[in-house]
Amino acid sequence: MNIGYHLTQAAARWPSKTAIVFEGRRWTYAQFNRLANKAANAFQAAGIGPGDKVAFLTWNLPEQVAGFYGLLKLGGVAVPVNYRLAANELKFIIENSGAKIVVFDDELAERVAILAPELAARGLGFVHIGDRTPDFATPFDAFVAPAAEREPRLGASWDDPAFIMYTSGTTGLPKGVIRSHRADIIGAMSMALEAGFRHSDTCIHNKPLFHIAQLQLQVIPFVMLGGTAVMTRGFDVDETLSLVGSERITCLHGVPTQMVMMMQQDLSRYDLSSLRCGFYGGQTLNDATTRACMELFPETFFNLYGMTEALTVVGIDYRVHPHRLGSVGHTVAGVDMRLVKADAASPDDRSAEGEIGQVIVKTPAVMDGYLGLPEKSAAVLREGWYFTGDAGSLDGDGFLTVHGRIDHTIKSGGENIHPSEIENILFDHPAIKDAAVVGLPSTKWGDMVCAAIVRKDPGLSAEALDSYCRASPDLADFKRPRRYFFLDEIPSNSTGKVERNVLRQRLIDGLEAPLD
Ligand code: ATP
Ligand code: MG
Repeated sequence: MNIGYHLTQAAARWPSKTAIVFEGRRWTYAQFNRLANKAANAFQAAGIGPGDKVAFLTWNLPEQVAGFYGLLKLGGVAVPVNYRLAANELKFIIENSGAKIVVFDDELAERVAILAPELAARGLGFVHIGDRTPDFATPFDAFVAPAAEREPRLGASWDDPAFIMYTSGTTGLPKGVIRSHRADIIGAMSMALEAGFRHSDTCIHNKPLFHIAQLQLQVIPFVMLGGTAVMTRGFDVDETLSLVGSERITCLHGVPTQMVMMMQQDLSRYDLSSLRCGFYGGQTLNDATTRACMELFPETFFNLYGMTEALTVVGIDYRVHPHRLGSVGHTVAGVDMRLVKADAASPDDRSAEGEIGQVIVKTPAVMDGYLGLPEKSAAVLREGWYFTGDAGSLDGDGFLTVHGRIDHTIKSGGENIHPSEIENILFDHPAIKDAAVVGLPSTKWGDMVCAAIVRKDPGLSAEALDSYCRASPDLADFKRPRRYFFLDEIPSNSTGKVERNVLRQRLIDGLEAPLD
């Protein structure tokens, strides 16, 4: 089985059903499959065969998705790259992935032009999607024009690589995750089961396709089911909400930052009556926004916990479990999970019942490894389990709560403290806009619990916050922050996740004297 074959199948089953809508243009499944086939045959004519990689440096575009599907049919491997990276970071990924062709759009043209002479000298080809093709590249339309529309011979199946997806880079340099056809097909099927996607559903691709979520949760399952996808170049809150009404969108997936931005709008200005299924993941969402979202999605509202390496592993529908906000729920179909000791060497090194441990998972949707990083791969893939590096705890009913990364555990006065335990309490303070807790080196405590705060109310003082924490019935005294730092913003990556290592270093650099 090949991911690309699902488009062939959809074109045969539902030729006149709308596959993609983009800036007023529509492609049926038959038309979209023809475009994918032309891309496949054009890649083949350009020398791409099974196992060859093509890097995509573009905002969301229909040609990009057609390119993915054509390439996958051929047996090629798609490498979607974060378009926010600087020229040298792009160069690192293009070289690291071993791509033979770079497909890019207008937005990336300047950065690609800087790299083009060196990469071209090494034999890389360039295909450009857009109106202003630079002279070192071939326009996409001209690239596919001479190619036939016939189905290419499938050049990959089940266990062959389909995508190299780079992780978000929250904890360091992004890692290239090798994902097979098998892993992504199973991940998409499990998501379709979990969320109950239907042929009649319409979703929106408004998040970048260089993160796995959009591919697993929308692109791949929707092509399998013959659903419709409305695509936007990037995320714009007003455009998203307007399209819900005009295109009758039923399923909407967002990262928490996008959910917060949507809920801050005057929603009465939009027709949102078509929405039925909402979901988010990637990081925690505050309770107030979660409740507001539950109102908006009358059927299901999911929090999904997963990662580039293993896809969605745990999920919860808060409409079914409204009293479980904060928990990420139970494993989804096909996934086994357990908690092991933080520094466990083996999957059998389980953590004590009720304790916070490291989440490990076993799933057929797991990656094959990190590209070019055999040691890192071996460290996280052990005896059939993937070690997530996340801290989690299970309640008596087996609901999982994620407490951030094991590496960010604060070891203070001999106790293990997880930043999220304190952040959840700080987030409830009405004068706090944003907060993040880290441990800073201290002679007395080992790590001192410190809180970085972005204030809504500039009058908020460290003393007032200390009284607030002391008065909280949910915060043991040893977890209470001993220092507060008032900042304009908390450093975060392009998906809105807190970059704790960056924050911690920034606070350490700003200290006038070491902490006692
Ligand atoms: P890197 O691995 O490069 O540091 P990253 O781990 O942020 O980046 P992703 O694979 O995009 O890259 O994110 C997966 C991580 O996001 C998980 O390991 C977990 O820490 C966090 N996460 C995912 N879903 C949720 C969720 N629903 N709630 C809380 N945290 C989540
Ligand atoms: Mg990670």
